[in-house]
Amino acid sequence: MAATVLDGREMSREIENGLKVRVANLLDLGVTPCLAVVIVGDDPASHVYVRAKERACARLGIRSVRIDVPSDVEFEEVVRTVRKLNSDPDVNGILVQSPLPEGMDEIKITDLIDPKKDVDGFHAQNLGRLVQGDTSGLLPCTPAGVMHMLESADVDLTGKRAVVIGRSRIVGMPQSILLSQKGVDATVTIAHSRTADMATLCREADVIIAAVGISNMVTRDWVKPGSIVIDVGVNRVNDDSEKGYHLTGDVHPEVGEVAGALSPVPGGVGPMTIAMLMSNTVRATEMQQ
Ligand code: NAP
Repeated sequence: MAATVLDGREMSREIENGLKVRVANLLDLGVTPCLAVVIVGDDPASHVYVRAKERACARLGIRSVRIDVPSDVEFEEVVRTVRKLNSDPDVNGILVQSPLPEGMDEIKITDLIDPKKDVDGFHAQNLGRLVQGDTSGLLPCTPAGVMHMLESADVDLTGKRAVVIGRSRIVGMPQSILLSQKGVDATVTIAHSRTADMATLCREADVIIAAVGISNMVTRDWVKPGSIVIDVGVNRVNDDSEKGYHLTGDVHPEVGEVAGALSPVPGGVGPMTIAMLMSNTVRATEMQQ
């Protein structure tokens, strides 16, 4: 049996249609939502992501502002840039594209962003609210996108065993909290690089969320037939193509032969993440009115 494909492109179009209505309502009030993206350095993957975010803004009528900062800039200059955006009343959402150049403290920068404009949802105040059980604020985009994906696919998580592979501040940890929150009610195991016998753990899971960054790590024999597998991973694998690389997930494509549902890479969690960023930008703008 082939797994149902969880089509993130299609699901994100539906989210965008809902957002267009909310953007139109804001325009009626004379407010154009505005997202500012700060990009430090010239990491090629970051530039690809930022362009995708700019295109999404253009589709929805959200103004986007991009601030390019050279990689050898002083930390204080990035601080000044964020502070200026915080105090700009025309800017509703701010994100500083990850990764920052080596040695630059991402958490320090994140915590400088006004929590009301923190559309990545990584500020201590926004993550803290999530831990308190309040999911009405600005949620981290990738985990929120995964939750939307599961909801759109009518997956009932109550009492289900979920394994989240990865415990990062950006994906794995907030994902685990969202899955185990009251009302969603999955029983969650968080796995990481020190976890023993990952294969056995995964074979017991009804839902697997892979957010590691290792190409094709989750193989067919790790997956219980019929389970739901969400592939967050984005890995650049070099090849002889014109581009010189192709993208793979953390889940081997052969998992599609046993899983009940599987999100593809590309076209799965990636578009959902961008849709959630747009959703946070609109929400931040509404909250600021
Ligand atoms: P990260 O900060 O590097 O975290 C990776 C996590 O994987 C860590 O918790 C690490 O464990 C764990 N890990 C590493 N090797 C492992 C192993 N052999 N077995 C089990 N766990 C292992 O990465 P991230 O930012 O969470 O991103 C994870 C992946 O998702 C990357 O491929 C990234 O590109 C992708 N991503 C995609 C989107 C999207 O929109 N599609 C968004 C964000 C990230 P330790 O904590 O023990 O080191």
